[in-house]
Amino acid sequence: MRVGVIGTGYVGLVVGACLAETGHHVLCADIDEKKIEFLNQGVSPIYEPGLEPLLKHNLAEGRLTFTTDVPRCVRESEVIFIAVGTPSDTDGSADLKHVVSVAGTIGEHLNEEKVIITKSTVPVGTAARVREEIEKHTDQSFHMCANPEFLKEGAAVEDFMKPDRIVIGVEDETARVLMEELYSPFVRSGNPILFMDIPSAEMTKYAANAMLAVRISFMNQIAALCEQTGADVDRVRKGIGSDPRIGPAFLYAGAGYGGSCFPKDVRALVRRGDELGVDMSVARSAQEWNEVQKLVVTDKLVEELGSDLSGRRIAVWGLAFKPETDDMREAVSLKVVPRLLELGAEVIAHDPRALDVARRELPDQVQYVSNEYEACKGADALLILTEWLQYRRPDLGRIKTLLTQPLVVDGRNLFDREKMRELGFTYLSIGRQDVR
Ligand code: NAD
Repeated sequence: MRVGVIGTGYVGLVVGACLAETGHHVLCADIDEKKIEFLNQGVSPIYEPGLEPLLKHNLAEGRLTFTTDVPRCVRESEVIFIAVGTPSDTDGSADLKHVVSVAGTIGEHLNEEKVIITKSTVPVGTAARVREEIEKHTDQSFHMCANPEFLKEGAAVEDFMKPDRIVIGVEDETARVLMEELYSPFVRSGNPILFMDIPSAEMTKYAANAMLAVRISFMNQIAALCEQTGADVDRVRKGIGSDPRIGPAFLYAGAGYGGSCFPKDVRALVRRGDELGVDMSVARSAQEWNEVQKLVVTDKLVEELGSDLSGRRIAVWGLAFKPETDDMREAVSLKVVPRLLELGAEVIAHDPRALDVARRELPDQVQYVSNEYEACKGADALLILTEWLQYRRPDLGRIKTLLTQPLVVDGRNLFDREKMRELGFTYLSIGRQDVR
């Protein structure tokens, strides 16, 4: 099949590379010239495990092509995925300007009957709006689909290749048959393709992200209560997660969630409720609490060292919003690091992958090191914000000798409290009793 993907960000790039890998001819278009230049050289502009080999392989095989010529992508493809960004607008709603602009381009260049798919996360009614926008420019008939993406950054290729389920909103049989054909290589082990109406498909994505955000914020509030009552949130998590009605995923207490999806999607859902007079207070609370939670680690540090951190050197481990990505959109570090600087601290930061992004996103005063132990040298405390694998079993004895005082504030509950006690650390984590 000749597949077009418009927008080659975290989603579009993975979709394009994975579809090419199954034998389709994929033409990816983006207006970002620099990105396309990198991609044409087989270099991924983002860090995503397994993505670059897929790019190189499919470029070499001639199945994957990148262009800044969006009209060409429209003309040459039978199916067209719209995978551009849908960031938060100032009022919290999803800003659809990129989606609508792409729809206009599709309308202007639609040269035969095609299937148009919204892959971006978009509110209910967007596929209808895309249809309307295309129809402003053409009488050519086409088929609309809504196919939200559920991949997780850090495991995006794996998630796309082996999805738990594929959700597709369709309005006719032609689109349904074509989408089934397109996705058949990914559902050979029986994982379902769930066909439904378009509004339900659009809503499914928001409901999924809001549900996961609610679980996290709920556990973070339970964690706060654990700290006050002597309970341990990790034990509580295991205790409830083994109930099949609850399940173990997304129950980890921590320094809050970030990323390009949960915060903006929850905001957009809440905003949509406001517009339609539907109370989305559960989702709203999850988001509001998450903003409070993001500063819990700095609050703990201040309780320990006082609110004047001038002359203090603080090591920060983990700047990406989660492990295995360099994405820092709405990362906890974007709140914590400026707060530390505001309190007068000198910040020495490490991240295995996100340092280039961090240099653009964080204030200039931050110092960066390429080795995590280097960050601890002469620091008054170590703060952990992201649970990268290499932070999970570090040489704690070495950390203790490098720090000026053995103080660790762990926003991801990585270490065993008893071990930290034996080693003589002051160890503050989330929802567990302090070790002193
Ligand atoms: P991104 O910001 O990484 O990429 C978007 C790309 O679209 C950019 O490269 C940009 O240059 C390009 N673009 C913008 N306007 C364009 C235009 N008119 N023509 C061509 N290209 C254009 O975004 P992303 O993280 O890939 O997310 C894309 C969508 O997928 C969003 O709606 C997001 O909510 C959704 N989504 C993201 C994830 C994720 O983990 N990142 C997961 C599921 C769904």
